[in-house]
Amino acid sequence: MGEEGGLVIVTTLRFGSSWKDGIHKQTMAAGMGKSKRLERFVVIGNGIAGVSAACTIRKYNKEAKIMIVSKEPHPTYSPCLLPNYLSGEISREKVFVRELSDYSEDHIQLIPSERAVSVDIERKNIVLQTGSIGYDKLIIATGSKPTLPSIKGIDRKGVFTFKSIEDADSIAKWKGSTAVVVGSGPIGVEASLVLKKRGYRVLLIEILNRILPQMFDEYPASLMKKALEENGIDPANRERVVEVLGEEQVEGVVSDRRKIKCDTVILATGMRPEREFAEGILEVGALGGINVNDRMGTNVPDIYACGDCAEAPSLIDGRPILSLLWHNARLQGQVAGSNAAGIPSVYPGSLPIAAVNVFGLRAVSIGSTGEGTGSGHKIIEARRNGDYRRLVLSGEMLIGVQSINWDEDLGFFLAAILKKEKVKTYRDLMSSRKPLFNYLKAFPFGHKVLLSHSRGL
Ligand SMILES: Cc1cc2nc3c(=O)[nH]c(=O)nc-3n(C[C@H](O)[C@H](O)[C@H](O)COP(=O)(O)OP(=O)(O)OC[C@H]3O[C@@H](n4cnc5c(N)ncnc54)[C@H](O)[C@@H]3O)c2cc1C
Repeated sequence: MGEEGGLVIVTTLRFGSSWKDGIHKQTMAAGMGKSKRLERFVVIGNGIAGVSAACTIRKYNKEAKIMIVSKEPHPTYSPCLLPNYLSGEISREKVFVRELSDYSEDHIQLIPSERAVSVDIERKNIVLQTGSIGYDKLIIATGSKPTLPSIKGIDRKGVFTFKSIEDADSIAKWKGSTAVVVGSGPIGVEASLVLKKRGYRVLLIEILNRILPQMFDEYPASLMKKALEENGIDPANRERVVEVLGEEQVEGVVSDRRKIKCDTVILATGMRPEREFAEGILEVGALGGINVNDRMGTNVPDIYACGDCAEAPSLIDGRPILSLLWHNARLQGQVAGSNAAGIPSVYPGSLPIAAVNVFGLRAVSIGSTGEGTGSGHKIIEARRNGDYRRLVLSGEMLIGVQSINWDEDLGFFLAAILKKEKVKTYRDLMSSRKPLFNYLKAFPFGHKVLLSHSRGL
């Protein structure tokens, strides 16, 4: 089955009708050759990047046919809310950021439970698991997938990743009491906090010298580690898990230091771009993401990529980075959609911003850390009754800030990073303070594609 000759669309497809019916209608209309041909935009992936791209296209082009192909059966949801769902703070329903009716209202056709397998760029045709569809402009927003470490026995029952709503559902159904969380990035830390709340005994094992190693330097990380210990989670650094024990089901793990009895293992050892669909067709960057320019264009004309699958420029130094964060994925989707629709839009760059609340200890990291990002950075630290702030400067420019329980002025520091202001000392940085609003007005996030988005996407 294919759509090769299906150049005519007679009806706007409504969500709920079979997409195969739609293709059938197109082919019949093509045969009759009477109607006007509409531009076809296909988005692969229904995460925040894909749905933002589709909504932006619709905003600029009221007529076009827009389809989203999604491996998953549901409307768009926020993985950021999965910890809140799993801890019981919010209902499962609240994890979704769109309803099925939103797609039909926007005349966007969602093709759920369908995997895009490959693309023929000569014929502009996408091969799906059960068919094929043609496109004029293609947006790849296939997101990321968990990196699985080379640990023996990770196929045992009771071993989970924490990426999708299905993962969260499986963890919710599982009846365990002792968990080993492998990896202490934001997802590992969130998983530990949630499992603790669900009554588990939790051990958090990290191979590096500190927890949250991409977001925090050693001292602020040590404050969070202490908070975890004081609240009954056992964090361990410089320890490598090498094997999961058990017949069919998890009975323990072996590390390079010890043997631990447990019935649950969460693998939180990082995410990597999901780019199987475009393998061998699109250029891939050194970090494993699809290479894009500042318009989210790939090396193939009429194909854009955005979100976790793409390697886009950093806002701080313009070097390609994998952002793997919601706000950047959303903006990348908007920029990709805008350019695909013919409205030029430039991506200002990805900025790492992350916040975590460890038993009441509010930790925020914006921009680059001082450790692990090369030498030559200047660090300025400040302490106030147990609160902590750390500024990272490259030359005279502020490139990062980390704070523990010290939220005031974070907007100001964010603006200073974005404006690439020259500062010498903490005192200078504070005394040159201007109202945040003035700074933000000058920042490209104020670009019209952001301001004009519907439904808060
Ligand atoms: C537990 C958790 C907590 C998080 N918390 C935060 C947070 O607090 N703050 C923050 O900024 N970020 C957070 N993130 C990261 C954030 O959720 C992601 O950066 C963001 O969702 C990426 O969006 P995306 O659209 O690029 O990709 P995804 O959300 O991964 O969506 C991609 C979609 O494409 C589909 N797909 C892939 N391949 C195909 C194919 N071949 N055919 C069809 N469909 C396909 C996938 O099934 C998926 O539905 C968190 C992530 C997780 C897992």
